[in-house]
Amino acid sequence: MVKKISHIGIAVESLEEQIPYYRDVLGLKFVATETVEDQMVRVAFFDVGDTRIELLEATDENSPIAKFIARKGQGVHHMAYQVDDCKMAINQMDGKGMRLIDTEPRMGAGGHKIAFLHPKSTFGILTELTEEHE
Ligand code: ZN
Repeated sequence: MVKKISHIGIAVESLEEQIPYYRDVLGLKFVATETVEDQMVRVAFFDVGDTRIELLEATDENSPIAKFIARKGQGVHHMAYQVDDCKMAINQMDGKGMRLIDTEPRMGAGGHKIAFLHPKSTFGILTELTEEHE
C-alpha cells in the first residue's frame, strides 16, 4: 500500500535561516516555497532523489508547527508515506485500530490529498499519508 517515502517534514523557526544549510551545505536541489494557509505554515521544498525534505515554518502562533517547537524544539516533525489512495488507506488504518487525526483526506501542499495518523498510535512519529499523482 505504501509506495515510498514522500517527504520528511522538519519544524524550523526560520526558513531563511535554514535554507542555506540544505541548499548550500548539503547541496540539495531547492524547489520552491509555498504557504499553506490551512495549516498556518510556510514550506520550503528540497528534492533528495525522488523524495523531498520539507522545512515547515509557522505563520501564526496557533500553527501546529509553533506549538510543536514550543514543546519539543526544532527538528523532525513528521514522516510522509505516499499511498495510491489516501481515503482507502485511512479506512484500512482505521480498521487496524489506528488513531486518526484526519478521518477524511484534506488538501496539503501541492494540492495533494493528505491525512495524518496520531503519534499515539505510531510510537511517537506523526505520520502522514499522501496521495500524489504526477
Ligand atoms: Zn507533510
